[in-house]
Amino acid sequence: MIANYHNHTWRCNHASGEERAYVERAIAGGIRVMGFSDHTPYPFPEGTDIHTRMGMDQFEDYVNTVLTLKREYQGQIDIHLGLEVEYFPDYYPALQEFLKPYPVEYQILGQHYLDVGPVMPYIARPSPPEREGALLEQYVDLCIAGMETGDFLYLCHPDVFCFSGEQAVYEAQMRRLCAAMERLHVPAEINLLGIYQHRHYPNPAFWEIAGAYDLHVILGTDAHKPEHVWVPEAEAKAMELVQRYHLHLLHQLPLHHRKEANT
Ligand SMILES: [Zn+2]
Ligand SMILES: [Zn+2]
Repeated sequence: MIANYHNHTWRCNHASGEERAYVERAIAGGIRVMGFSDHTPYPFPEGTDIHTRMGMDQFEDYVNTVLTLKREYQGQIDIHLGLEVEYFPDYYPALQEFLKPYPVEYQILGQHYLDVGPVMPYIARPSPPEREGALLEQYVDLCIAGMETGDFLYLCHPDVFCFSGEQAVYEAQMRRLCAAMERLHVPAEINLLGIYQHRHYPNPAFWEIAGAYDLHVILGTDAHKPEHVWVPEAEAKAMELVQRYHLHLLHQLPLHHRKEANT
């Protein structure tokens, strides 16, 4: 792995370790391009539960920390300032407005929730059988709308949705998602966290479908602690998927894809 764009920091409340230790781990693994993409703060209404992301008031510190490391490690490793962002149509424009003054180099789309509110169902957990078809459709709708903004470097764990219903329903929705990635030229991430934590993703059923589309694939470790910045065993398993389903793997991505929101 020469580039890894998917790394978190302690600010999201479910990651640990010092940012510097993440960088050192990347260097030890021979990674040359590393992006921090912590769970974005979101300008939600007052009182919304935000326990899985940094608060708006932590963003300044996040930016400064990453930029300081970027300067310090210049010449050893290219460090980039990114964010993992969900597409919530009601709040996304305000988020982009908030981010405007900051030198964010990329966003990756990681849709873990479908809605904002006191009870936000986490889609990587099983949902009620009578609702999961509709929820899966809503998941795909949100991913597509997010990708259509043109703001995203890639789609994180496209197969994160935990679906146990009819295979035909799953396939129809995943085809819709893959067709959109192909049309919009948004690469799909093989998520290594799912591998090293033995989750239900990467889901071979998804990657078999993806293999039939002309889309690009990238590996992301989704590190929530320093040792997960570089996980060679998980990388090897991901490469088996790449080979089995004839996926078009990219090793590095250009970061100038993002719309010129700052001008
Ligand atoms: Zn996370
Ligand atoms: Zn992540």
